[in-house]
Amino acid sequence: MTRVLLASRNAKKLAELRRILAAEHVEGIEVVGLADVPEYPEAPETGATFEDNALAKARDAAAATGLPSIADDSGIAVDALNGMPGVLSARWSGQGDTANVALVLSQLHDTPDPRRGGGFVCAIALVHPDGTETVLRADWRGTITREPTGTNGFGYDPIFRPDGHDRTSAELTAEEKDAISHRGQALRLLLPHLVALAG
Ligand code: IMP
Repeated sequence: MTRVLLASRNAKKLAELRRILAAEHVEGIEVVGLADVPEYPEAPETGATFEDNALAKARDAAAATGLPSIADDSGIAVDALNGMPGVLSARWSGQGDTANVALVLSQLHDTPDPRRGGGFVCAIALVHPDGTETVLRADWRGTITREPTGTNGFGYDPIFRPDGHDRTSAELTAEEKDAISHRGQALRLLLPHLVALAG
């Protein structure tokens, strides 16, 4: 078994990666989380891009633990806001998810429907203790709605309607979302690199 660290304390992210590995019949990899390794100082996310943040987190994790380490960074990029909130998504209002959603809706109040495009973005980095690095990115395009709908998911899900769907991502089931989301796509892009690690 090759142990791989997912540098996250989010049990849902760990479960998602384990589910995808099982579904794709990837064997020989044991995914552990930050709760399973000795604590080390976690630097604040200060990068200008999702890729920078994911790489920084994965590098720190590999250096601290000696394990091949995966880290992700994600957010929403709104076209009419020139790609913001972007890497500032979690901190956009400074007051949590509900206030973040309200702030983006008010910023887009006068933006007409044809210009309400945007997308969730996820960058995933895999850093091996020998210094080998891979960073991958996936975009999930859609539209920013005019009001929040749905109670599944988290963050900006209630105001994001993915292209090709008539529901927001907060109205999709977890399985529906995993199959098409930015994070699901990025994790699947990473699979060949994990298979190489196990082999
Ligand atoms: P992190 O990558 O877990 O730090 O997430 C960054 C922030 O981006 C979250 O706090 C959310 O505000 C937003 N975000 C990332 N992915 C999603 C998603 O799948 N749904 C809704 N919001 C998301």
